[in-house]
Amino acid sequence: MRDIPLLIGGKEIHEGSDGVGESRDPSTGKVIGRFVRAGENEVNAAVEAARKAFDQGPWAKLRPFERGRILHKIGELILERRDAIAKLEAQDSGKPLRDAYWEVDCAARFFEYYAGVADKQHGSSIPLGPDWSDWTVKDAIGVSLHIIPWNYPFQLIARGVAPALTAGCSVIIKPATETPLSAYEFVKICQEAGLPDGQVNLINGRGSLIGDALASHKGIDQITFTGSVPTGERVLKAAASHAIPCNMELGGKSPQILFGDADLDKAIPLVAGGFLTHAGQVCNAGTRLLVERSAHDRVVEKLHAHIRAMNIGSAVDDPDMGPVINQSHRDSIASYYDVAAKDGEILWGADLPKAPELSDGAFVRPALVVGASNLTRIAREEIFGPILTVIPFDTEEEAIRIANDSDFGLVAGVHTTNINRALGVGQHLRAGQVWVNSFGVGLDVEFPFGGYKLSGFGREKGLEALGAYQQIKNICIHHPLR
Ligand code: NAP
Repeated sequence: MRDIPLLIGGKEIHEGSDGVGESRDPSTGKVIGRFVRAGENEVNAAVEAARKAFDQGPWAKLRPFERGRILHKIGELILERRDAIAKLEAQDSGKPLRDAYWEVDCAARFFEYYAGVADKQHGSSIPLGPDWSDWTVKDAIGVSLHIIPWNYPFQLIARGVAPALTAGCSVIIKPATETPLSAYEFVKICQEAGLPDGQVNLINGRGSLIGDALASHKGIDQITFTGSVPTGERVLKAAASHAIPCNMELGGKSPQILFGDADLDKAIPLVAGGFLTHAGQVCNAGTRLLVERSAHDRVVEKLHAHIRAMNIGSAVDDPDMGPVINQSHRDSIASYYDVAAKDGEILWGADLPKAPELSDGAFVRPALVVGASNLTRIAREEIFGPILTVIPFDTEEEAIRIANDSDFGLVAGVHTTNINRALGVGQHLRAGQVWVNSFGVGLDVEFPFGGYKLSGFGREKGLEALGAYQQIKNICIHHPLR
């Protein structure tokens, strides 16, 4: 049992204005942690601490290479504690242990990567003629608020906070109430690595209460929000009330296009992993499979065999698939079994697991849906669960049209052995990332990630992420010779 305080200005706060919340292990339903819930007082205190750290603190005075060393140290400490953090994350979020290890390793990669970038944030020199000197500098934007969802909390905190610190910002982290535990480990590591007090602050609490108070607070200069579209829209309205920029990382209904010439032995595990990882609770889950008609029946048969062979179990036992986040989300996914049965035909799934050892957890079974058109609810709505809709197509043009016919545009996959087809189709897909003969990231933090359309705007990861945390200042000097 863990007791999680708030961490504001380097100090632990053990009482909050909104009492105490509980965190449960979705595999067992048991309470594994309690956390202090902040209210408006603590929101104000966190903003004040972050503001003070930014305006007066030593972080801004450090030379960039010195900041880089501290960022690198954070990555090292994360790796030193990977066993403990991975186990905690598996218990708190329900992801199988191997995915939790990936999450921790990926968090460390963000700090390694941005540590190396800290002293390479060059501006540019702009020629205006002999009597002028003109150059740009990259200023930190200020206090950066990070609102985090429950699916990959540790990794998503690192994804935004590492570039924000690199740019020189101070940070406030607001984790999801479902998964508050690993954020505390993260901030403790930051303190131990030598980050000044107030540079990173942790504020737990109900999003409906403190989310809006944080997002509309005049002391916040920028928001990185990762979560659902409806909440994202609320955050955008709050941000608009004081005209600050936001990075919006929202949902998806990503297509995977599988051509008849694909190597099925390689493609099937990728397609399956694309919609089954963390029980489908992944923003970039590939939940629409567009299959060339000639390969449709073969592909469906193989996928069917794949999911029937999966074992479902408690996250810490590292099964093929763990639980979903809670009973209410389980019920929401189960309601889509009925939607699927109306929109098409369910080949596997459509009920909840019956094993007695799973009865206290929030478990679902994966489902394969055929015969539903791309216009149906099952093919259009983000379910955030392990349900794959398989849609046949006849030509490249039709595959592109169906893939792009979505409110979302986060990622897309293409499976083919024809390089011309891969390049051509990839160019026409309206998505922030296109994967060919692969799907989803490993430890690749180097390239940009973000959505088109309702999937959001702004880019995380890679050098592109830094721009969200910087202001470009131009300095121009007129110095004619006398
Ligand atoms: P959510 O319900 O939108 O919650 C996200 C965060 O917003 C939580 O910390 C939540 O706090 C907070 N929040 C709730 N109401 C708020 C308000 N009025 N103002 C400010 N913050 C508020 O999303 P979720 O269910 O945790 O996560 C699933 C969604 O995230 C999916 O749509 C998924 O696709 C998306 N996602 C996107 C990415 C990406 O990179 N594009 C990555 C991961 C997940 P509470 O928990 O306290 O309510």
